[in-house]
Amino acid sequence: MNKLKDKVAIVTGASKGIGAGIARQLAADGARVVVNYAANQHAADRVVADIEAAGGVAMAVGADITRRTEVEALVHAAIRAFGRLDIVVNNAGIYQFARIEETTEERYRQQFDINVLGPLLVAGVAAAHLGKGASIINIGSNVTRVFPAESAIYTGSKGAIDAITGVLARELGPRGIRVNAVNPGLIDTEGTQAAGVIGSDFHAWYEQQSPLGRIGQVQDIAPIVSYLASDDARWVTGEIILGSGGMR
Ligand code: NAP
Repeated sequence: MNKLKDKVAIVTGASKGIGAGIARQLAADGARVVVNYAANQHAADRVVADIEAAGGVAMAVGADITRRTEVEALVHAAIRAFGRLDIVVNNAGIYQFARIEETTEERYRQQFDINVLGPLLVAGVAAAHLGKGASIINIGSNVTRVFPAESAIYTGSKGAIDAITGVLARELGPRGIRVNAVNPGLIDTEGTQAAGVIGSDFHAWYEQQSPLGRIGQVQDIAPIVSYLASDDARWVTGEIILGSGGMR
């Protein structure tokens, strides 16, 4: 498929998990893709190698999205290599679950820095380089509909993403730039494996409650992002699409 032909994309946090799946999908749909990572260059290089082996074009660029100078270097690297920027996927994020009694400044700052400040910096730096037909896609979460216990900081950070998506759709719409969010439900990723969510009681409860009777896979999310990035979604902005198998 070539629905993203001639477009250039940055996917933050694309060394693994949902971001890696999105990078692979956008490349398979014809975009040239910058695979961003924070620390794990080896994993990002593997994603790039997979994309190239499938006939796509990609490059890995390390940048901590919580630092504006690194975000500037990321965006400039994309434009230097590929000449333009059309698609920005704000995917990088972390989740730490804890009871409200366990709230610390550190837990708050880590999650809000990566999940909120990061997307703001990336959108802010990228916006100057985006034009008509460009698209920003924020990866939120269905936690803003499900409200899981012991997730106040994380859910708060994703609530900010829902709101920021609406604001940026209004702010950038007059320039022909669309801004949407995809809010996944529980997805099997390196992150949810490492956090012990996969295989937990929450996982079992989720499968029981979910209309489609299962948790999600990365491949359930990536095509939604590719659709939003494509011209098929030219009349769609400010939307939050739940990619959760109906779990809300
Ligand atoms: P993951 O497997 O833990 O991967 C996280 C990615 O983010 C990695 O590529 C990591 O890079 C990168 N990253 C972390 N901090 C960064 C920083 N400061 N700058 C740049 N990159 C950074 O995560 P995931 O489960 O795929 O989740 C991805 C997104 O989906 C997150 O926003 C998450 O909140 C959201 N989400 C996930 C689920 C789920 O169930 N998995 C559900 C709803 C929403 P390194 O490898 O280099 O550290």
